Amino acid sequence: MGKPRVVIVGAGFAGLACARGLDGRPVDVLLVDRTNYHLFTPLLYQVATCLLNPSDIAMPLRKVFRGSPNVRFRQAVVTGIDLDARKVRTGEGDEIGYDRLVVAAGTEANYFSNQAIEAAALGLKTLPEALTLRNHTLRCLEEATSAGRDPAPWITFVVAGGGPTGVEYAGALAELGRLVLPLEYPEIPSNLFRVILVEGQDRLLPPFSEASGRHAAEALKRRGVEIRLSTLVSHADAETVTLSDGEVVRARTLVWSAGVRPAGLAEELAAPHARSRRVSVDERLGIAGRVDAFAVGDNAASTVEEGELPMLAPPAMQQGRYAAERILALEAGDYGYRRFLATNSVAGVTLGATANVRDVDPDFLPHQPAKAPASPEGAIFGHHRKCLDQVIMHNCSSDSCSSLPLDGQAGVGPRTSRTTTNCSAKY
Ligand SMILES: Cc1cc2nc3c(=O)[nH]c(=O)nc-3n(C[C@H](O)[C@H](O)[C@H](O)COP(=O)(O)OP(=O)(O)OC[C@H]3O[C@@H](n4cnc5c(N)ncnc54)[C@H](O)[C@@H]3O)c2cc1C
Repeated sequence: MGKPRVVIVGAGFAGLACARGLDGRPVDVLLVDRTNYHLFTPLLYQVATCLLNPSDIAMPLRKVFRGSPNVRFRQAVVTGIDLDARKVRTGEGDEIGYDRLVVAAGTEANYFSNQAIEAAALGLKTLPEALTLRNHTLRCLEEATSAGRDPAPWITFVVAGGGPTGVEYAGALAELGRLVLPLEYPEIPSNLFRVILVEGQDRLLPPFSEASGRHAAEALKRRGVEIRLSTLVSHADAETVTLSDGEVVRARTLVWSAGVRPAGLAEELAAPHARSRRVSVDERLGIAGRVDAFAVGDNAASTVEEGELPMLAPPAMQQGRYAAERILALEAGDYGYRRFLATNSVAGVTLGATANVRDVDPDFLPHQPAKAPASPEGAIFGHHRKCLDQVIMHNCSSDSCSSLPLDGQAGVGPRTSRTTTNCSAKY
């Protein structure tokens, strides 16, 4: 009898961690993704703002598993999953059989059925989207230099969504306007450059502590970002963005980071779903109590006392690793393997080149204390570009690596010496 076949759909944080957990073990793994690289999403905004190049945040998957005895990669769009027949269908019409399946297809943007916004907005979830946004921004700056044209709409940027992505992007964009514009676009009156961050809730960074949200708002305001809280984007077209308070902003750019939903593949899976549309899983991440199919990361409605685990990279990696362990235990006949327990982690947000917020929520996942103390107000500032560049160059997605902005270790400040010394990642 051959080795058990494990198919992992999605090579993001969860899927990659799972494949690594099974690397060199007595199973045959097929990792399927629509792209042939693993994307480090936390730094996508830096590609969109010309601070990084795409290759800095995209790791070729075939390189990751070069030399692996049992992990194979296949680039394909998975279009359907038949849990009963144990088959995965691809866009090319192929059917791939499996003995154990791990669904790790992540999320996609949610425009809440507003087609006008969807048509007008630029996304920031994938590498092609980040590149489109980068090119669009550069084009806007060039257009703003045209003689006889009102430059204002071309250099007014509305960012919808005050979560980590929106906050980081707005901060980096504001610094582009503040630091680069006067030097490289002297024709443009830099006082006309506007970044407007629109958030539906009454504070920024809803997944973080209130103190972190406050600090982020203050830091962004200091950088010239206009913040509109308790406000929604209600309509948009190529030239204007309309806000829920009636204001019509003349802007050629709307960046959408205001909502995500599970990838279509996970939403359409014939299995129970939570209200969030994530796939319901049991305490061992099995789909509907199954031992042959698991959901992990953003796809999984894995609950703790406070509700579902947040859609963040650290829990996704933890779940991916756990799914690998559970599969190996099942193959060894251990059906009572320990249930999944998420461990606490630190989340971080970078605000332009000179500040960041790090957050350790003491109430987050109470069964394990935070690995490190929070700063007095739950937020720390003082990071800087040089160190960040070192972190980026390192390009590691392991949450055991303390060089990352999201590393499960507290502490900020210079990281240049930590980037190479504290990493146990395999890249
Ligand atoms: C711009 C941005 C910034 C973020 N910043 C942070 C941050 O600072 N900190 C943090 O903790 N989290 C951050 N997140 C959230 C974090 O990226 C997610 O929580 C994490 O990626 C979830 O991991 P995952 O493996 O579930 O999904 P993903 O990492 O999204 O991976 C899903 C994979 O599935 C593939 N896929 C999807 N559909 C299909 C299909 N039909 N067929 C084949 N392949 C498919 C995709 O190509 C992708 O590779 C950010 C997200 C974004 C978009």
